[in-house]
This record gives sequence, structure tokens and C-alpha cells, in this order.
Amino acid sequence: MKYETVIGLEVHVELAAKSKLFCSCTTKFGGEPNTHCCPVCTGMPGTLPVFNRKVLEYAVKAGLALNCDITRDFRFDRKNYFYPDLPKAYQVSQLYAPVAVNGHTEIKGADGNAKVIHIHEMHMEEDAGKIIHSPDGKTAFLDYNRCGVPLLEIVTEPDFRNAEEVNAFLYRLRSVFKYLGISDCRMEEGSMRADVNLSVRPEGCEELGTRTEMKNINSFRAIERAIAYESARQIKIVENGGRILQETLRWDNVAGYSFSMRSKEEAKDYRYFPEPDLPAFHLTREEIRLCRAAIPEFADEKAERLMQEISLSADDARVITEYRNLAELFEDTVKLCNAPGEVRFWFTGGLLSYINETGTDPEDITLLPENFAKFAGLVLNKTLTRESGKKVFRAMLESDGDFDIRGFIKENGLETLDDEDLIITTVKKIIEENPKPYDQYRNGETKVYGFFAGKVMKELKGRADPSSVNRMLKNILENES
Ligand code: ADP
Ligand code: MG
Ligand code: ZN
Repeated sequence: MKYETVIGLEVHVELAAKSKLFCSCTTKFGGEPNTHCCPVCTGMPGTLPVFNRKVLEYAVKAGLALNCDITRDFRFDRKNYFYPDLPKAYQVSQLYAPVAVNGHTEIKGADGNAKVIHIHEMHMEEDAGKIIHSPDGKTAFLDYNRCGVPLLEIVTEPDFRNAEEVNAFLYRLRSVFKYLGISDCRMEEGSMRADVNLSVRPEGCEELGTRTEMKNINSFRAIERAIAYESARQIKIVENGGRILQETLRWDNVAGYSFSMRSKEEAKDYRYFPEPDLPAFHLTREEIRLCRAAIPEFADEKAERLMQEISLSADDARVITEYRNLAELFEDTVKLCNAPGEVRFWFTGGLLSYINETGTDPEDITLLPENFAKFAGLVLNKTLTRESGKKVFRAMLESDGDFDIRGFIKENGLETLDDEDLIITTVKKIIEENPKPYDQYRNGETKVYGFFAGKVMKELKGRADPSSVNRMLKNILENES
């Protein structure tokens, strides 16, 4: 019998607010253990939480971006459980009135077709601290710095059928949230973590199978492996006439298998009740309208449009739109100089390779579209060759945005040479210095042409217009003896 895998996700994303959900402690990653906390986030009796409305703004933007209904009267609930990294022994979360519900978003499925993933809800909650085990396993240390860091939990409907769809959704989520500037979604730093709920059922069967939940998987690769493993494990049990236990599993990415942590707990196990230390909150229409007005065109849609409008390849469109500030730089530059081909050339070959080479944070790029456009114009009208353009472009990237292109070109003598005599003299000199390749060329070995062209360009420090060099070099090689 063939089986179908059914997956639903609970994704936790740390929101980029500067201070915690209910106190003014910093949310910065890392730091000396227990230096980013106060009596509120460590749950001292008698302290009271104060809601950080910045988190609300981020949550509402996320909800709108994924087409959710926003709950205008929302509140928080207390979820009780004891865990060493949760000093309050409860987590403030949202059960009864989550901030956003009934959303959807589109991904590209494994077959390349669009597929809609439904969002059950999104709610705000606080993160827990961290337990650090000593290498000998005898001692555990507690770091409460992360306690109270604002999280958004996104709960999907069980709409996924394979790991490709799950990862496509997580990539989409990461891209949308980064464009909104509400989270950096770094899986390796734990600012995005996914719980994978998975069940199997005979193909064609409508009813859902019993599911297991794998907690906090923190890389795209680990998600793929965990899904493959868990799906095969369940199918084997069902085929042998067994029953799946509804339980919470931990995926061990090093060992490559999942193991049971506990039997599945339900809402009633947590003795949820409305958080008594916080009031009910209200969102005005105006607040929602302002959030909606700040929703940008997202990377996927932008890429699609650029492919249509200026015939970018799918690959170029994808890399150009990955970061919002860079995508906007690209578009603004093209608008100013109307030379998409030249801008694309310098964007992918110049800007992106500079970022890769130097490890610069793309957000720190200060290049102005005005300068980029002026530069592209100078290459197009042959004031600059692409070869000397490289030096100018690099210097422009290294400057702090305020860059005098013409001045730099003058100072460094980089204008294109339009001195025909100099080119001719140089060509002759190079030929004279290389009699052997010259003979080869004259005897029909035309592949040595590149050797000459390279030498001449180098001698002229990349400043000669390659088409002039070609014209004169060919002429001399072929007609003089
Ligand atoms: P609970 O309240 O027990 O946490 P939910 O109904 O909130 O359960 O679902 C939690 C997650 O599990 C959701 O992402 C949902 O899509 C997914 N899910 C629920 N049932 C199944 C199932 N049978 N197979 C796979 N995923 C499921
Ligand atoms: Mg749940
Ligand atoms: Zn605090």
C-alpha cells in the first residue's frame, strides 16, 4: 500500500524588538550568562509585567503579511509548567484570543506548482532561558538571558505532504519576516525553530493519522532528515499492524534518529488561564491601517515582476531580491539610468561578490543608487572600461556612500584611453617582444590571439577600450609582416 505523509508546523520566531516582551531588558543574543535579566523576566514574586507594544506592531505586520484576520481584542494567557529554564514556572502565551488567525500564503510545491498553505493562528509568547550541561554531564548551568524574549508562534494547518514543501514554507517565512524587518530568522542562532507534527495515512484516505511532534529542529537539512526518518518509522509501524503513539519526540541530528521525550500533553495539562497580571488589549483600526501601509512587496513577488519587466533570469532575480535594501538599491538604480543589463552585471559580479568576499553584512551596504547609476552610465558611454570600472566600483563600495566618482577616476588616471597611437605602439611592442607566438599566429594558430590581447590590455592597465584594442591588434597581426 502507498502512504501519504501529512505535516503541520509550529514555528517559533524571535521578534527583533530591542527589549523583552514584558520588561526593558535587552533581547541581544549571547552576552555573559544572566546579565540580560531583571526581577520581572526571572519571575520574582510581586513584580508586574508591562507589555511592549513594539512586539504587537511586529506581530500584526506578520499577520497581515500572511493574510490573517487580526484579533482586535486580544489578551494573554498563562501556561503553567515547570522547567528549569523557566523560573516563573509558567509562560505567558496566547491561547484563547491569539493576535492573528485564519491566514494563508503561497509556496512553490515540489512539482513546481503553486500551493496554498493555511495558517491556523499566530500568537505572541515569551521565550524560556537555556540549560547548559557540563561536558561530564554531572552539572547543569542556567542562563536566563533569553527568558522573556518575544516570540511569535506560527501554527499552520496540516497542509504539507513532504519536506520540500516544509522548507519552501520556512524559506518564504524567513524571507517575508526579513523584508518586514521583524526577525532575522537565523536557524543556527535559534531565532527561528520549527516543531514538526507528522502523521501518515494510506493514500486516498481522508482521515488524519495519529501524529507525533518533533520539537525545535534548527536547520533546513535537519528538517529534511527528521521528516524522512519519522515518516519511514511510522509507515513501518502501521504496515506491521501497529499503532502510532501520540508523543513528543526529540530529533537527534547527529545520531540521525528521533526518540521519545514524553507522551503528548494537551492544553488541559497546562491549566491555562487568562493572565491576571495583564489587562485585555485593544487594537484600533488606525493602528492596523498603519501596519498594513508598511507592508512592502515581498522578495518572491518582486523577483517575479523583475523577470517580467526587465527579463532577468530566475537565478538573477532570486539573488537580487534576497535582501530588501539591496533589491531596492537595484530597482532605484535601474530607474535612474535605465540600463538594467549593466546594473545587473555590476550588482551580481561586483556588489554580491564583494559581500561574499569580505563577509560584509548586506544591511551595511551604503552604496547610493545615484552613484551606482552614474557609474553604470560611465561604463556604458565608455568613459570607463569594465576593467578599470572594477577599481572604481570597489572603491565606491568601500566608501561610506559619499563618493566622488569623477574625482576618483581623475586621481587614479582611470579614464578609457582614446589614444589610438598609444594602442598601436603598444600592440607593436608586444608583438616584437613575442616573436614565437607571432610566428605561430602567422602560421594559422589563431588561438594565440587571446595571449596578445591579454598582454596589450595588461600593458595599458585595463584602460583601453577592448573593442579598439581588438580592432587594431587584428589589423596589425593580419596585415603587417
Ligand atoms: P495541539 O493543540 O494538540 O497542539 P493543534 O491542533 O494545535 O494541536 O495542532 C498542532 C500542530 O499539529 C498544527 O501545526 C497542526 O497542523 C498539526 N497537526 C494536527 N494534527 C495533525 C496530524 N494528524 N498530522 C500532522 N499534523 C497535524
Ligand atoms: Mg498547539
Ligand atoms: Zn527583564
